[in-house]
This record gives sequence, C-alpha cells and structure tokens, in this order.
Amino acid sequence: MEKRDYYTVLSVTRTADERELKKAYRALAMEFHPDRNSSHDAAEKFKEASEAYEVLSNPDKRRIYDQFGHDGLRNQGFSGFSGAEDVFSSFGDIFGDLFGFGARRGAGGGGQRGSDLRYDLQLTFEEALFGCKKSITLDHYTACETCRGSGAKEGSQPVTCSTCRGRGQIMQGQGMFILSTPCHACGGQGRLPGDPCEGCKGQGRVRGKREIAVQIPAGFDDGMSLRYGGEGEPGARGGPAGDLYIAVQVEAHPTLQRDGDDLITESTIGMVAAALGSSVTVNTPDGDEEIKIPKGTQPGDVITLKRRGVPRLRGGGRGDLHVVVKVQIPTDLTSKQKTLLEEFDGEPSKKRGIFG
Ligand SMILES: [Zn+2]
Ligand SMILES: [Zn+2]
Repeated sequence: MEKRDYYTVLSVTRTADERELKKAYRALAMEFHPDRNSSHDAAEKFKEASEAYEVLSNPDKRRIYDQFGHDGLRNQGFSGFSGAEDVFSSFGDIFGDLFGFGARRGAGGGGQRGSDLRYDLQLTFEEALFGCKKSITLDHYTACETCRGSGAKEGSQPVTCSTCRGRGQIMQGQGMFILSTPCHACGGQGRLPGDPCEGCKGQGRVRGKREIAVQIPAGFDDGMSLRYGGEGEPGARGGPAGDLYIAVQVEAHPTLQRDGDDLITESTIGMVAAALGSSVTVNTPDGDEEIKIPKGTQPGDVITLKRRGVPRLRGGGRGDLHVVVKVQIPTDLTSKQKTLLEEFDGEPSKKRGIFG
C-alpha cells in the first residue's frame, strides 16, 4: 500500500502544533479503533493514523519527515507499526484516557509492582469483639541494600530491554479488552541492568523479615480482612510495593455466639425458677451479669440485654445480647418430690398443670 502523506492522514496543516495533532489523532482513533469499528479497513486506517501521529508528534522524526519524506524515515530505521500491540505500546497514555482502559505505566517508569501479601491472623473472640493491636512478622522480599533496589552493579550502564523496546509495558488485546501488562523480561522498567548486582542477582530485592503493627478495629468478624496499601512486597527494580491483606480468623467462644452485631447465649434454669421467677448469672462479653427471670418464663423465651452485643464496626453503638432460656425438667425425683408434684398437679388451676 502506497504510504499517504502524514498531514493528509490526520487532516492537519503542516504547521499544526502538538495539541492539534493530538486532537486530530484522538478523533481518528475513536472512529477507527478496532474495538469500536468492525469494517474491514478500520484496523488499517487506525494503524495509519497512529503512525502519522507517532511521527508528527516526535520533533526529531517530524523534522526528518518534513525534509526527506517517508524515505528519510525508512533510512532512519522507522518502518511504522507492525500490529496493534505495537500501536498500543507506543500510545498507552493516550488510549488510557481515550477509552478508559488501563494503559498505566509504572510510576515514574519504575519496575514491576511487588506481590500482594496475605497474612492469616488468628484472634480470640474478645480480641475481635473489642479490637486489638497486634505485631506481626512478615517474611518476604525487601529492596536490596547493595544496589538500593536498582538491580545493577555499581557503575554499570543499563541497557534497553529488547522485549518491550524500552516501553516497559506489553499490550495484550482480547475482544473489547486491551490489557496493559508489565514487560516480563525487564519487570516493566524498560531497561535491564548491564551488569547485575551480586547481592540480589539483578533482582533489586532480597528476602528478609519485617515487623509491622496491625490495628484490628472493634467489631471485626471471622472471615473479614484488612488491606494495608503499599505494605506488600516491594516491586522489582524500584517498582511500587504490593498491598498487604490481613485475613482474620476468630476463635469460637464457649458460650457466646455471634449473629452480626448481636450475640446469642443460652441459660438453663430449673422448672420451679421458670414458674416462680428468679435471677440467674449469664456470661456477657463484659463479664458475668445477673439477670432477672420473670415468673412464667417458657422454654425458648428470649431475654434481650440491650447494648451488650458486638460494638458496631461502622457507626458507633453496640448490638444486643439475646439470652435464650432453657428449662430443665428434673429426671431423678425423690419420693417426697414426686408426691409434692403429684399434689401440685391435682390442685385446681386456671390452666392445666405443667405436666399437662
Ligand atoms: Zn542488589
Ligand atoms: Zn521489557
């Protein structure tokens, strides 16, 4: 295909500035982006516009093109784009705000982001309920001190990564989604150490231990996790750190059970206490507490203690504590007790006796 004039392709004047070029290119890219336009020559037009923009937005290439045309650039080794991946790796930043997909580069062109870390933290029931401070020890990669994380031996000159041609990113297209991933060869930095650091074999990081303080808020529950941004492993060769996730497991309590912000416990009383009323000691998160059993309490009745439950994780206050009353029926009566109960059962009553 005969190469068209770049200014004609973008429909701009020969004196167009960077802003005009960008505007013209964005309009064409929006129109011919292969994800948006399925006509047979859209991809070709998209590539053509991208190539024109690549050249005209680069002062050096533009000067050569203005003076010597397409041949001049070819002599300089520029031959346009071979495919969509090429286009995307060159214009990640523009596409990022054009289409909203992630064409981010590492901060400051740095290396690959560090891994996220997961730490399983076991808490007692009370620790989760009222919150606590914990010190945990992480065993993971830290920046190499010898090379200060660069991965290069002192005095060695970095070389451009050939896999990503120094971009640090590789674009992978699939249907509507174009993903930008850090180059695996250089860890997203675009450059490789000429001579690798001996302390870290060029990785820029070494394994080590680190202690961090963790604050568990009151009301935390089993299965929840906390995220500490940037507390994961440091990136390779100066890349941003990953995140740390603290996954919390809460030990069961012998008598208290959680139901959201409420707590449930059981209290077993005798038959006579249920009939006549009484008081009983129950175990609450705040310690033992005496509660009143009203006369005529039935098995399964629930006595609710307001604000004796779980501190609410969001927005203050506390849930309630529900005491489920169980009534124990005696099984080994003395003959005197038996006689008394038979007498009781024979007494006239508003209702039938408790043995029916
Ligand atoms: Zn090192
Ligand atoms: Zn690379």
